[in-house]
Amino acid sequence: MTKSRCAWCGRGFEATAGPGRPRRYCKPSCRQRDYEARRRAAELGLSEGELVVARAELEDLRDRLYVLRCAVEDVERDLAENAEDPDDVRRALDWLLDAARTAASE
Ligand SMILES: [Zn+2]
Repeated sequence: MTKSRCAWCGRGFEATAGPGRPRRYCKPSCRQRDYEARRRAAELGLSEGELVVARAELEDLRDRLYVLRCAVEDVERDLAENAEDPDDVRRALDWLLDAARTAASE
């Protein structure tokens, strides 16, 4: 078992070692979406490094990053004010983890 990263969504997954080409995608829908994106890019004459994405999907990603950035700022501010009490540090860490999990969820 080796850890691989999905070529479409970037999630880590366990790739089973075996005959044949190693898996590049965490699930079939990722493989399908990558295939469709490549086909669309080819139709539009885009290069390998260019990708057509839905505006809603890009906005969703931006929103997730914004929420995460706000959480980082909150935690930085909290830690600058009270970093002595381990309970406060723990609360700040939990808050940040929660925001990071939400940002990284599907
Ligand atoms: Zn994936």
